[in-house]
Amino acid sequence: MFEDISGRTALVTGASGGLGLHFARLLARQGANVLLAARRGDVLERACAEIAAAGGKAAPVILDVADAHSVAEVVGNLASDVDILVNNAGISVAKRALDLSEADWDDVIDTNLKGGFLMAQAVARRMQAAGLEGAIVNIASILGLRVAGNLAAYAASKAGTVQMTKALALEWARHGIRVNALCPGYIETDLNRDFFAGEDGQALIRRIPQRRLGQPTDLDGALLLLCSDAGRYITGAALAVDGGHLVSSL
Ligand code: NAD
Repeated sequence: MFEDISGRTALVTGASGGLGLHFARLLARQGANVLLAARRGDVLERACAEIAAAGGKAAPVILDVADAHSVAEVVGNLASDVDILVNNAGISVAKRALDLSEADWDDVIDTNLKGGFLMAQAVARRMQAAGLEGAIVNIASILGLRVAGNLAAYAASKAGTVQMTKALALEWARHGIRVNALCPGYIETDLNRDFFAGEDGQALIRRIPQRRLGQPTDLDGALLLLCSDAGRYITGAALAVDGGHLVSSL
């Protein structure tokens, strides 16, 4: 269904686990050469070996998205140009706004918003210098479009990511670089499985119109659409994949 991305180079940040590792495996299965980026080299080496054993092409890239020097140096010195960037690295701090420290706020904004910008800018500079067209997919969240309690910094970072996506799409369309945001709803991963199995988690699931959590594979169609030429006329979009959570009844 999707146009071919085999032979393209895709860089996925936050690829040492969770959704980032899922996206890296998916893109590798579609034939892309995948660069798995995160801070821990040993974890990335294991993930790359697993992808290679399944017949994919993968290499680790050690960087901290929140560190401008790390991003500029590592992306600037990559052996190959990047056709697809999946800006996935992200953190959240769950605290009441009254208890949120300056350090909490900075950590979340620096990783999710500044980190996404630094990566997009570094990759777009390379694309433009090489005359390459490409696709950038920023992993935002439905919390960039609506709010929930105890996640003020996270929601602000994701709303910023959605607006940044539109601003970059406007500036870079003329260079053939598409920039879109994918806004997942609640997706089951190792980190949240226990919470969703409990009473509070089950109550939350009952508020999702489809009455179920998303699975990482539920994001595959949207990710491949935005990364591949199937989405060639889509730029500046914020695509929610959330089982209808954003349209839940008020
Ligand atoms: P996760 O914690 O399992 O994975 C996050 C990854 O980002 C990890 O590999 C971590 O090492 C990496 N990372 C964090 N800070 C980094 C930094 N400074 N530099 C490089 N890498 C860094 O989380 P996840 O659930 O897989 O979430 C992935 C993305 O999807 C995040 O942006 C998150 O906000 C978003 N998201 C997740 C859900 C969900 O339900 N899981 C829903 C909406 C959006």
